[in-house]
Amino acid sequence: MFKNCGRKFVLSVVGATLTCLLVLVVDHQQNRQVLEVEDRDSQPVISHLLTGSNPVESEGSDAQDPNTFSAYFNQLTRVRRDVDQESPPTKKPTGPVEEIGASDVFIAVKTTRKFHRSRMDLLMDTWISRNKEQTFIFTDGEDEELQKKTKNLISTNCSAAHSRQALSCKMAVEYDKFIESDKKWFCHVDDDNYVNVRTLVKLLSRYQHTEDIYIGKPSLDRPIQATERISENNMRPVHFWFATGGAGFCVSRGLALKMSPWASGGNFMNTAEKIRLPDDCTIGYIIESVLGVKLIRSNLFHSHLENLHQVPQSEIPNQVTLSYGMFENKINAILMKGAFSIEDDPSRFRSIHCLLYPDTPWCPQNKIY
Ligand code: UDP
Ligand code: MN
Repeated sequence: MFKNCGRKFVLSVVGATLTCLLVLVVDHQQNRQVLEVEDRDSQPVISHLLTGSNPVESEGSDAQDPNTFSAYFNQLTRVRRDVDQESPPTKKPTGPVEEIGASDVFIAVKTTRKFHRSRMDLLMDTWISRNKEQTFIFTDGEDEELQKKTKNLISTNCSAAHSRQALSCKMAVEYDKFIESDKKWFCHVDDDNYVNVRTLVKLLSRYQHTEDIYIGKPSLDRPIQATERISENNMRPVHFWFATGGAGFCVSRGLALKMSPWASGGNFMNTAEKIRLPDDCTIGYIIESVLGVKLIRSNLFHSHLENLHQVPQSEIPNQVTLSYGMFENKINAILMKGAFSIEDDPSRFRSIHCLLYPDTPWCPQNKIY
């Protein structure tokens, strides 16, 4: 049952997303694991979930929770935790290293015309309403209604298709606009992310913006393995970590400037083509593989590819990003008692917003958050 769920999950994600998706494949002969990526333009990619005696494996295990949704996510989380414990502790200064404010951060939100009403309106009402100056919305279609709400609506001229190229096109524009700006930090999020800008600023102030900093959360627990085209007939394997775009990630200006030969102007699209991977993977490739800078993992970023039920309610105000999404016709969102019911606020973003900004006019004033 679990295995089916996992399969279904992977396949549904393969169908739904072009975010750099990792599919773990077990090589039985050599008893090792390789990571493959979904690439619609090249050969179909193997999409087994795990088999064999891998720690994530649970086929036939009676101990598994028959609730496939949480069982599957529990497994993912457990593996990630195990890996976290194995990796050496990152050197993190305790206090701020550089005093920065929200105005030092460039927050790029990727969206598409068809999500302006269903997703962007919610973000405009909630976290973006408090952070208009530094939030830039990258889209692919005209919309007077959204235009009225922000000066920072950027029409990218990228195609509205959910293709690898279209998504890389948007990321390329995001990068160029950030470089043109005077901001110290570039952060990318999707239009189904809630950003707690206060905690984001607190996190980034632990680093110097002039240093090489790439921070976010990897999708899975191993580096991605891809093939880099060196010349017409020459390919070589590369492996690197990348922060999943659906959870949001940030890059310091110091590092972003070094990325320029591979990321500015049309270069980002060329780089993405060279490895034939989606936008967030391409960022990881440039930073880790080309520039040799390591991703700093943070558990404060959350995508809907993880089980959001596992974010403890008491920790919600400390997170940097949150998300929501559908999984097997059920909503995957954080669990919280809040100002609004699940029916009125399925993403929980309005309830989070009232917790963080209780003086918001539409938040019920008689509630204690
Ligand atoms: N998106 C886009 N063009 C599309 C479809 C999606 O720019 O044709 C954006 C969408 O607005 C979101 C991101 O890509 O910011 C991820 O899309 P979605 O959440 O629908 O899919 P996921 O990858 O999370 O399954
Ligand atoms: Mn999404």
